Amino acid sequence: MNICPNCGLPTEACICKELAKTKQKIKIRTTKRRFGKIVTMISGIDSDTKGTAKKLKEELACGGTVKNSTIELQGNHVKSVKEKLIEMGFNKENIE
Ligand SMILES: [Zn+2]
Repeated sequence: MNICPNCGLPTEACICKELAKTKQKIKIRTTKRRFGKIVTMISGIDSDTKGTAKKLKEELACGGTVKNSTIELQGNHVKSVKEKLIEMGFNKENIE
């Protein structure tokens, strides 16, 4: 049986990943790109950034990329991104 070195629980029962999710400070903001295009930037998601980006892109039906653990989505999705992240288990207190 494997024991998680962080929480001391068997890896199947390890809560570190979930805990990490609730602790991450996430920032959502928009920025203007060339030709006046709006991009939604989500930073602070350190674990499974790519997986989260993929889910967001699917849910919001938009394009996007991951750069240095910052998720960039095309268009202004600030409100819906926040809702989706909360649905995914992130702590809304930590989302700005
Ligand atoms: Zn653990």
